[in-house]
Amino acid sequence: MDKLHTTQTGPVGTRSNPVENELQLVRAQLNDLIAEARQNQEILQRHQTLDLQLIGSQSFRELIRHIFITLAEICELDQVTLCLLNSQHNLKEMLADLKIDNDEFPYLLFSESETELRHGSRPLRKPLVGPYESKEHQRWFEPYPDQPNSVAIIPLIRQSKLLGCLNLGSDHPDRFAIDMGTDFIERLGSIIAICLENVINSERLTQIGLTDALTNVSNRRYVEQRMLEEIGRARRQHYGISCMYLDIDYFKKINDIHGHPGGDEVLKETAKRIKAELRLSDTLGRFGGEEFVVLLVNTNHEDAKYVAERIRKSIANQAFLLTMTGLCDVTLSIGIATLSDDHNSGEIEEAAKALLQRADEALYEAKEQGRNRVIDSPED
Ligand code: GH3
Ligand code: MG
Ligand code: MG
Repeated sequence: MDKLHTTQTGPVGTRSNPVENELQLVRAQLNDLIAEARQNQEILQRHQTLDLQLIGSQSFRELIRHIFITLAEICELDQVTLCLLNSQHNLKEMLADLKIDNDEFPYLLFSESETELRHGSRPLRKPLVGPYESKEHQRWFEPYPDQPNSVAIIPLIRQSKLLGCLNLGSDHPDRFAIDMGTDFIERLGSIIAICLENVINSERLTQIGLTDALTNVSNRRYVEQRMLEEIGRARRQHYGISCMYLDIDYFKKINDIHGHPGGDEVLKETAKRIKAELRLSDTLGRFGGEEFVVLLVNTNHEDAKYVAERIRKSIANQAFLLTMTGLCDVTLSIGIATLSDDHNSGEIEEAAKALLQRADEALYEAKEQGRNRVIDSPED
């Protein structure tokens, strides 16, 4: 993308001695060549650094940051956006799992189908470079207030599948000229496509290991890990964190009446209804059997009680419709515990254990008092 520098030669000096003149000319050319070689080496080194950063990305988040920050900086670009085909990997779902929202990466765009990535009527298979044309390019540079003057639209292709496109914009009209060579750009596109596929696959694998296969919510391992991170963050940023322990009432009876598959359906629908009441930043996990745990970040005692009550009602107020056996009334009991915003002492592991235990004790109390209710443990 950077143009390699070429030396312009011309007459130097006006002395009459032709040999001397010639020598001076050669010297000047040599100096230019050395300067040019140095500059080219610098460019190559910068691009090598970029390649290493991209390839070394350990997560989707890290790769995207390198694309928007490192790439833009190293290649001296004024605008960089990335459009990914959602359909290829159901990426939006993955982003929700990774707790990445629109505000974190405003220059990350999504497209639902390959047709949306067409250029005119042609599929996007080769990089397109040239002046900015609003009809074709506006959609790619919309997040920026001003339009660029020249652009490169680079398809990201992996094993002949289009993953999306990388869009580079420059204020200089001749940075991306129609007649320029696109070797470097194609190479950049290939590297980014490989890196994208790698981080997406690796995020998927991690996700599988941390997900409950029946309900598709997180598993116990994930919630326990997350709890440590969230308590650490809550301490640093001085906000409260609440934990809910939820357990379906008389679930054994539900299994007896509706069979094990019916019980499984109840578990899935329960997870879905709980999730519907939560924010993206909250964490829901199945702790085993018919028990769930929810972690509410930046949430005080009163707010947690309000959310818990909403969850309880969303389960109890509408019977579940099971495929084989029809309607089934379900209720659950919820225990809540909160770590207040000034809780700052002791080991994080101990704090997490104590928080969970207090929520569990409150749940026990809810069962004791007759089930289908929310009980909160006194604040720490
Ligand atoms: P309580 O109101 O006190 O919570 O009573 P309960 O019957 O809900 O609780 P208990 O712990 O006695 O029973 C839980 C049952 O959940 C027992 C077990 O067979 C069933 N169970 C555990 N895992 C699964 C599962 O994955 N699918 C189904 N269908 N049942 C499960
Ligand atoms: Mg139980
Ligand atoms: Mg139970």
